[in-house]
Amino acid sequence: MQIPFLAQALTAQYGEAVAAQIEQGMGEQRITTLRANLLKTTPEDVASVLSAAGIAYTRWAAEDAAFLLEGADERAVQALPLYERGEIYLQSLSSMLPPLALAPQEGADILDMAAAPGGKTAQMAAMTGNRANITACEINQIRAEKLKYNLEKQGATRVNIMVRDARKLEDFFRFDQILLDAPCSGSGTILLDEPASYRAFSEKLVRNSAVTQLALLKKALTILKRGGTMVYSTCSILNTENENVVRAALKGAHAHVEPIILPGMETLPLLPCALEGALCVRPTAQYEGFFVARIRKDS
Ligand code: SAM
Repeated sequence: MQIPFLAQALTAQYGEAVAAQIEQGMGEQRITTLRANLLKTTPEDVASVLSAAGIAYTRWAAEDAAFLLEGADERAVQALPLYERGEIYLQSLSSMLPPLALAPQEGADILDMAAAPGGKTAQMAAMTGNRANITACEINQIRAEKLKYNLEKQGATRVNIMVRDARKLEDFFRFDQILLDAPCSGSGTILLDEPASYRAFSEKLVRNSAVTQLALLKKALTILKRGGTMVYSTCSILNTENENVVRAALKGAHAHVEPIILPGMETLPLLPCALEGALCVRPTAQYEGFFVARIRKDS
C-alpha cells in the first residue's frame, strides 16, 4: 500500500488477512449511491425516473429510500431534474447508517453536533417528516453555508443552524437525541487509485482527530438527557478514533453502548470491532469504511 502508516496501523489492529481485505476494498472503484428524499418524493417515483433515464439500480436491504446505481456516476445523477429539485441526495450507504442507528423520533429535540454539509441532518429531517426539532451545529462558517443551502434544497424546515465549536456548547443544553458524526482522518473513505482521497491523511491527523473526538463525545454525553440516546460515528476504521475514543469517554460516565439492530444488517461487510454492540464497516465497492456506536445515557 502507498500509505505506509495506514498499512501498519491496519495490520496491527486487524491482522494481515483482514488488512489485505481492507486494502483490496480501498483499491475498488466505489459505486454511486443516493437517498430518495422522503420530504419531497417517494422511492417509487425515484425508481421510475431512474428507469426512464436508463439508469440501472438495485435497492438496499437496510433502507428503502437508498439506491445503488449500476454504471452511472455522480454527474449523470446531477444532470437529472429531480436532483436539482432536492428530491434525491447523493450519499454513501455507510453514511446513512448513523441516522438509522439513532432512529430519530418525531417531537424530539435532536442535536446534530458536527453537521455540514448536512446529508445526515436532512436524512433525520426526512425520517421524522420534519416533526423533530433539529439543531445542526457546525464550526466552519463556509461549510455552514453549504449546510444551509443543502437543508433548504432538501426541504428540511425544522432545523436551527448554529455556527459554533460544539466542544464549547453550554453545559445547560439538553437534547433527547444526539448525532455526533465526528470530524476524522477519513481512513475509511480512502480510494487507493485516487490520491486526492488521502492527500490530507497522516498519523498526526489521526492523533489530532482523536483528541477532538474525545472532547466532542464528552460534551455530547454531558448535554444528552438522562435516558436519551446518541450515536457516535466516524468515516475512519482505526480504533484510535473509534473504540478507544468511546471507551475513554464512557469511563466514569453514566452511559453504555447499546447494540445496533437494523434490517438487512447481515448483508453489511463488517470488520471485527473491539467494542461490543458497535459496527465497523469494511470498505468495499459498495461501502465506505465507517464506525457507528449507539450510546444510551442512564436514566
Ligand atoms: N454529518 C455530516 C454529513 O453527514 O454531511 C458530515 C460531518 S463531517 C464528518 C464533520 C464536520 O464537523 C465538518 O463539517 C467539520 O467542519 C465539523 N467540525 C469539526 N470540528 C467541529 C467542532 N468542534 N464543532 C462543530 N463542528 C465541527
